[in-house]
Amino acid sequence: MSDREDLWIEKGSEIFLRGVRCTNCGSILFPPQPYGCEACGADGGSLEDFEFSSQGTLHSFTTVYVHPKIETPYQVAEVRTEARQYVRARLDHPDPKVGEAVIGCLQIIDDDDAQFVFVPTSQAGG
Ligand SMILES: [Zn+2]
Repeated sequence: MSDREDLWIEKGSEIFLRGVRCTNCGSILFPPQPYGCEACGADGGSLEDFEFSSQGTLHSFTTVYVHPKIETPYQVAEVRTEARQYVRARLDHPDPKVGEAVIGCLQIIDDDDAQFVFVPTSQAGG
């Protein structure tokens, strides 16, 4: 399903993630949800749209070997972004190391579709 494309936006050469920010305590939530703040308990009316950089640090990663619908193996990363929000997404990295700088980019799947993946910052661009 393509509704996940609503989770990111291209700004120049960089991919930004779309979450929400709590106007009461400043917490950033990703993926976005309308229910309320997980940190301070403020209701959904306190959440506003918030776009933040996909640049961050590799916090953890794993390789998935079995999936009913997706070709395996593939990597999944948990990244601590510069906005201090943890984001989980696909990882495309030949030799990942915890603490390494990574950034989000779009990989073309076919003519009509792309997926968000984290790659090493040193290999990003283009
Ligand atoms: Zn809050």
